[in-house]
This record gives sequence, structure tokens and C-alpha cells, in this order.
Amino acid sequence: MKRIAIGLAAYDSKDLAHRSAELSANGPSTIFRADPQANASLLTTATTALANIKEGTSLRLSATGNTLKVTGVGLTGDPSLSKIIIKPASPDTHFFVQLDSLKAGRTRRTYTGEIVALAQNSSLYLFVQCSLEEYLFGVLSSEIPATYHLEAIKAQAIAARTYALNPRIDHKPDHCHVCDSFLCCQCFLGLPAQSKSPYNQAIDQTKGQVMIYQDKPVLALFSSCAGGHTENYESCFSDIHTNAFPPLAIPYLKGVAEGRLPSDFHSPPDEKALAAVWHWPRPDTVDGWASQFRWSVNLSADLLEATMHHVIDKMLGNSEFAPFVIPPQSSIFGQVKSFTIQNRGVGGTAISMAVDTSKGTWILKKELVIRSAFENPEIKLARLRSARIYFEQRRSAAGNLLSVNIFGLGSGHGVGLQQTGAEGLARIGKDCQAILNHYFKGAQIARL
Ligand SMILES: [Zn+2]
Repeated sequence: MKRIAIGLAAYDSKDLAHRSAELSANGPSTIFRADPQANASLLTTATTALANIKEGTSLRLSATGNTLKVTGVGLTGDPSLSKIIIKPASPDTHFFVQLDSLKAGRTRRTYTGEIVALAQNSSLYLFVQCSLEEYLFGVLSSEIPATYHLEAIKAQAIAARTYALNPRIDHKPDHCHVCDSFLCCQCFLGLPAQSKSPYNQAIDQTKGQVMIYQDKPVLALFSSCAGGHTENYESCFSDIHTNAFPPLAIPYLKGVAEGRLPSDFHSPPDEKALAAVWHWPRPDTVDGWASQFRWSVNLSADLLEATMHHVIDKMLGNSEFAPFVIPPQSSIFGQVKSFTIQNRGVGGTAISMAVDTSKGTWILKKELVIRSAFENPEIKLARLRSARIYFEQRRSAAGNLLSVNIFGLGSGHGVGLQQTGAEGLARIGKDCQAILNHYFKGAQIARL
């Protein structure tokens, strides 16, 4: 793969459909009509030139039906215009894109390469088309601090390159190879403000290297911090094709201990074993130094009462979450009485959670669903940082729930490579190959 098409999602969402977007560039560029047919390579090709754009011109893109409107250069009167590609006059030109996403918080982002815009069913879709190296640079700068050891960044570079070749979700129906969402593929926020960095060094030194298992690129999952123990694939993800949960296990995505864990720890851990890790004064694991290693959140019964039933309702209306939210016979989310983790993965990740309410017991399955159930706008919580959690539930003399303390380990799903652990391994002298061997057992490094 030499070039890659990346779908741009709304902030903190996997949704690629937008209402409108603003676009400008720091140099001249040209808008071309795009070949409307997505070809097998997923890369968009230009046909006729439609307009030249001067440096600094601000364009507004929007969609009505399958017609694209581009104000700022007067491309508003052609009902057959559904897809364009904007090419810079020089490779040094950067595009600035601001999406009107459904949620606030999306800022203007900077991209190199070409921008593709598509109108479909009154939604606007935007794609960045660039070289694999430019994409990797954007991923590394979004995913891993430049202050990390070069071997950790190199391990991340190989994982990111492998992921680009074999993403978990088939984005072909979306007309792209990958999306930019950290919730779906790997985070890609475009170019950082500073472009001189060890990322280029890591990309160059691992040029063409990918991880393979039985001659195929592996599913190179990674997350930020595993909190002492990584997790098995099948404990966190559902089957890509059937949505069955748990899916079939993947041999090289197995949870591993990140050092010598406290003697009270056993696998899979119960609440007591997780508490032993949480209260460990000096965690002796490769990720023990990280600020994300442990965290806690306190939610009062009043806060839960005010928000959780709305969140559950929202999940039931979302096809991604709904299959993993199982209501009681009443179908009503009553007053919360208790939370119980019913089973856990090898690292302690909650696989299913029972929420006992006054109207019956709800069952939530899968780590992202369980984490998202605790969304709470009052305390600006989008979801729990991880599902390696246990609870301390405070009750009144009458036995009513007063508050719940959630103790958590790590940040992210914890499957595959964990970045803080990779950094810890690099600090004790492990090179990128040894780091990847640790997280992807049995996988090999090969050249593209
Ligand atoms: Zn994606």
C-alpha cells in the first residue's frame, strides 16, 4: 500500500456523516470533479478541473441529496456534482478542515495530501488521501508522546502500519481504508503543530515492516495503558461479521501480565485481586509509572438517578450498543440498587455487568458498552477509562444505595500493545521487536 484514504469522523464518535465543513489551505489548490465510482483501491481519481482556489480562500462544503455544494468558489449550481477531489499545487501545502460535527469540541485540523468530499443522502463525507508514511506520522503524533523512547515509538509505528493494512472494520462500504476515530480504527488528528520529531525517525527505521501471523498481517490492536495486565481479544470485542459476543479467540491477542503482580492476584481476577493491584503502593510492572495506571470515580445515587436511564435509552437506540444491553421483563430502568460484575477476562476486564434496579436487573455486555453506561455530563464523563473495574457501594441504614466508588486500572481496552507498557519495556532496554513479541505472541515481523 502506497497511498491511503482516511474517513474523517465527528469528534469522539465513529460517525463519518456530516452536515457541513469549512476548508482552506496555506497555498493554492485546485478542485477537480472526481470519478464517482469508487475503484477497488478505494483511492479517488480526478477527472476535469472545476476551479482554482487561492491561498487563504475559505470554502464551505455541504450536501443536499447527492449534490455537493461548495460556496466560496461558486460551485453551487450543478446537481450532478456529487464528489470532488481537492489537490494542492505543491506538496508543502496544508489543508485546514473544520467539521460541523454533531458534538461540540471538534477543532480545526491540518492535513497534507488531498481532500475528497462526497455528498450522499444529504450527508457530507470527507476523506484525506495521502501517502502511508504521512498517515503513520499523523497516527503516531496522535497516539504516542514524542517524549517516549524511540524503541516504543518504533513498536507503535509497526503496529500502526500493520493496522492500516488490516483494520478491524472493513471500511470499503464507507469508501475508505480506515477512519480517524480512536473508537474505531487508530487516532489520526492530522499534522501536529511541530513536525520535527522522532516520529519520522521511527517510521524510517521501520520502513515497510509489518507484523504477520500465518503469512497474513495481524490485527494490530493497541491501547494506552493496561494497568498491569493486558486482555484477551475475545473478552472485549464482538465478532466483526456476526456481532456475536464473545467472538472466536485470536491466538496472538492474549492477555499478559506486565510484571510480577501482587501475590493476591490470580487470573481471571476477582474484585479482591484487582483491589490488590489498585492499592499496590509501588506497582512493579512496566506500566506502573503511568498516570493512567489507576483511577477512581465517585458517583452519587442522585447523579446515577438523573442520568443513567437516559444513557441506557440512548444505547437502546444505537445499533452498535443495543445488542449488548439486555433489559429485564419490565423493560424499565428503575432506581439503581447495585452493580455486579458477572464475569471477567484474564486481566480482569468486565465482560458482563448486572445493574440491579427497582424494576428488574439489566445486563450490559462488552467493555465499551459497560464503560459507556457510566457516561455522565454533569461530571463531564464520556465513559469510564477502562472496564478493569471494581465497585465500593455505600448504602444508607435502610440499605438504599447512596453512592458508588468505581476503582479502575488502565485506560482503553487493553488488548494487544499497550503504549505505557511499551515505553516501560523500552526503558529497561527492550527493542521494538522484543516489545512486539511480548504483546503479539507468535507474530513475526516481515517486510511489505
Ligand atoms: Zn474505523
